[in-house]
Amino acid sequence: MNREYYGKLIFELSREGRKGYKLPKHAVEGSLSDIPSTLMRESAPQLPEVDEPTLVRHYTNLSTNNFGVDTGFYPLGSCTMKYNPKINEEVAAMPAMQKLHPYQPEATVQGALEAYHTLQAALAEIGGMSEFTLNPFAGAHGELTGLMVIRAYHESRGDAKRTKVIVPDSAHGTNPASAAVAGLKVVEVKSLPDGTIDVDALRPLLDDTVAAVMMTNPNTVGIFESRIPEIAQMAHDAGALMYYDGANLNPMVGVARPGDMGFDVMHINLHKTFSTPHGGGGPGSGPVGVRKGLEKFLPNPRVIKRDDGSFALTTNDDALGSISVTLGNFAVEMKALSYILSLGNEGLKNVGPLATLNANYIKSSLNHVYKLPIDRICKHEFVFDGLADKSTGVTTLDVAKRLLDYGYHAPTIYFPLLFHESLMIEPTETESKETLDEFISVMAKIAHEASATPEVVKTAPHNTPISRPDDTAAALNQIVTYADLTQNA
Ligand SMILES: *Cc1c(COP(=O)(O)O)cnc(C)c1O
Repeated sequence: MNREYYGKLIFELSREGRKGYKLPKHAVEGSLSDIPSTLMRESAPQLPEVDEPTLVRHYTNLSTNNFGVDTGFYPLGSCTMKYNPKINEEVAAMPAMQKLHPYQPEATVQGALEAYHTLQAALAEIGGMSEFTLNPFAGAHGELTGLMVIRAYHESRGDAKRTKVIVPDSAHGTNPASAAVAGLKVVEVKSLPDGTIDVDALRPLLDDTVAAVMMTNPNTVGIFESRIPEIAQMAHDAGALMYYDGANLNPMVGVARPGDMGFDVMHINLHKTFSTPHGGGGPGSGPVGVRKGLEKFLPNPRVIKRDDGSFALTTNDDALGSISVTLGNFAVEMKALSYILSLGNEGLKNVGPLATLNANYIKSSLNHVYKLPIDRICKHEFVFDGLADKSTGVTTLDVAKRLLDYGYHAPTIYFPLLFHESLMIEPTETESKETLDEFISVMAKIAHEASATPEVVKTAPHNTPISRPDDTAAALNQIVTYADLTQNA
């Protein structure tokens, strides 16, 4: 790690007695000595002591070492890093939203419950489902919840032998992981060379031990699975349910609905499709929707609207139980609601087509210099299999590292696993043609460098704080506290 560049840690800037802040005079009667000694700490906390300018410079400098959607183009495939309008932040930060307690009496949080119920209904409309729960905290958490709904449904019919979930080999890693956590066995079905599911390979797998077929549409290579109605028919005939991984809902919004395609249960990643800043593991929200007849299995508590127009929290004995303490990640839910209401019907209908247009524009502008293994119209994202010219020795990793030099976040690399040199690009609908054109010219320039000066690309990045860390060592030997650092110095 280049400590010079990052500057010093706040603890190294600390000087005894320096102060950047004075606590206000406390408003309560009494003094410290009134606090029972059992509640007092034995020694003072080890806090850094710095003056205000030092503090401001320290955190401002740190913030500029970060890359985000607000600093530049972020074409990270599978992650939908779209621009998040600031109005959503303002709505979620309103005191009426922020100063709630999760266990406040129902009568005092009618507005919050109404907002929850409104979002629930909007998602049901968008997904073509009967009802949604907003309780899960992430896409993967939604998958787990949805699969638990499916288990509860089969068990309620006394059909306990359905213990398998069929998942395509192109699926996101969370799909098999969620199935395993839900106590179900994963059966993989292969994809055809064009990236779509192999229906002939699926057919013999469908028997009376299958609980669900789990699919992503468009799939993880950005290709629309046009045979879904046929697949849904086959699955339903075999007594299985259809699960829709809604992480790729972005190109579908306002265009097509999973419920209409024949899916029974789905999740949506609010942080992807419905515009919440995410990355580094959060914050997220993975609402789960179900078709008519499966509502009672949704987790407790549920928000319902009473006949008199008021809102209530209910619990239900058929429910799979609870998957979060309360009603999920309320701030993320409110950002999604703000996004949906501010775009409105017409605005939402533009999301999918523009995301699709932008992806196809980049793809067809670069397919002469990068290898395009699936040459079809894609939806919101697509995959290159590295450079077209394989003689340069320049890999996808090198291209991704070189993009950092030019001020871009790298695309997703080495996923999906269908190709050796996957480079997965998702521009999203919020980027202008000028941004796309600049990115295209930089990608073409890197392809040219790969032939003309391959060493430059293979040793990139050259102007970032760190160059090529040892990923494995960094994962095994994490430096996350000051103590770790001093021990590793
Ligand atoms: C992101 C993603 C997930 C998992 O969602 P998280 O919110 O990260 O848990 C699942 N499937 C696909 C296809 C995804 O892109």
